[in-house]
Amino acid sequence: MPDTVLIRCTGCSTLNRVPRSRIAEQPHCGTCKTPLTVPHAPVNGTTATFDRELSTWPEFLLVEFWAKWCGYCRMIEPVVNDIANWKAGRLKVLKIDVDAEPELSRRFQTRATPTFIMFKNGGHLGRMDGAPKEKLEFLQWVDRFVGL
Ligand SMILES: [Zn+2]
Repeated sequence: MPDTVLIRCTGCSTLNRVPRSRIAEQPHCGTCKTPLTVPHAPVNGTTATFDRELSTWPEFLLVEFWAKWCGYCRMIEPVVNDIANWKAGRLKVLKIDVDAEPELSRRFQTRATPTFIMFKNGGHLGRMDGAPKEKLEFLQWVDRFVGL
């Protein structure tokens, strides 16, 4: 695991390289001094924000297509929340509600919920269609890309 992470400043868009050990110390942007923040929980994505979320995040982006009525989504939700917290700064989780955002579902041709798609720096790395059979299978799939 690299010992630094890149965080894009929300104030001036500068990419800041921050030692992983300093993330908890509320680092500031080297250019404009805005506090740098990394999400520790899944973020909700919409058709309006998706491309910006994808293009401005330099690290891993795990997109989850989910539905309120989906039992498999509810089962995997605590694991997805844990991953967003454990891998904060290195991976961001973006959740797409398929009923609220049918345009994005069509664009990525989702046929099952949940569907997970992994991106890095805007590029597509892999996807998992449908629920993993067990928690460990899902964690291993994520770690194939992100590392332990
Ligand atoms: Zn800045």
